[in-house]
Amino acid sequence: MLGYGLGAAMFLVFLLVASGTVAIGDDGAWRGAGYAGNFHMHTLYSDGANSYDEMIAEAVRLNLSFVAVTDHRMTQEGLEKCLNEKRILCIPSEEFSTQHGHILAINITRHIPAQECENHQDDPWCDGNLSIKTAVDRIHAWGGYAFAAHPVSSNFPIAEQDLKLFDAMECDHPGYSSQEASASEALAERLGLPCIYDSDAHDKTSLRLMYDVCELDKVDAASVIKAAMSNKCKRHIYSGLEISRTFGLPRIDLDLIGQDSARDIGG
Ligand SMILES: [Zn+2]
Ligand SMILES: [Zn+2]
Repeated sequence: MLGYGLGAAMFLVFLLVASGTVAIGDDGAWRGAGYAGNFHMHTLYSDGANSYDEMIAEAVRLNLSFVAVTDHRMTQEGLEKCLNEKRILCIPSEEFSTQHGHILAINITRHIPAQECENHQDDPWCDGNLSIKTAVDRIHAWGGYAFAAHPVSSNFPIAEQDLKLFDAMECDHPGYSSQEASASEALAERLGLPCIYDSDAHDKTSLRLMYDVCELDKVDAASVIKAAMSNKCKRHIYSGLEISRTFGLPRIDLDLIGQDSARDIGG
């Protein structure tokens, strides 16, 4: 009886370990040391539904190691909270919405000034008709990095010649169809652009929908950005397994299985 119990327990451990390894990398093959994070999320400082503190608490609960808080138009209060964040690496950032597409300005500490939005009255967060080149040059001059936000989306597309100016691009998005996701990855490959994968979460439950796992030795802003620009961040989609802090040994939380959901692009 005891032997049977022990055998069953060992089989259960085997099952848990085996099912855990499936969640590592989309192809199930990637085994590098990595840290999970998200370069694109919103809070109540712009059009998100949860406060900065609620979003960070959820990121910590999910075991993310870094986030870029990319509210539309940076606020002084949001910036200071991010810079003083102790729970997780917070990279000060903003999503800058031009009429030519949306830009994730990563690692900047000032807002890119807005201009009139004549042709985008329907987008309350539109920041004007600044060209992608001018915006990207400005971000670089301030020591930041420009990642293209959902460039293949039907409502906020980025033209191919503009896309070439970016340091990296989002190659998938929770709001993309599978055709848009494959078109996006093919485009990145053709342009030689590194891929990142973010949730663009506008509420805390969406934060887990898509995230990066980046091959990293240590978690600081320079290392995380370098990993993204070296194409060392891989797509992960919430699969019911709790996100592991250090990939290679996923922690399994059976309570989370089946809580997946989808969300449209909110801009
Ligand atoms: Zn966004
Ligand atoms: Zn956007």
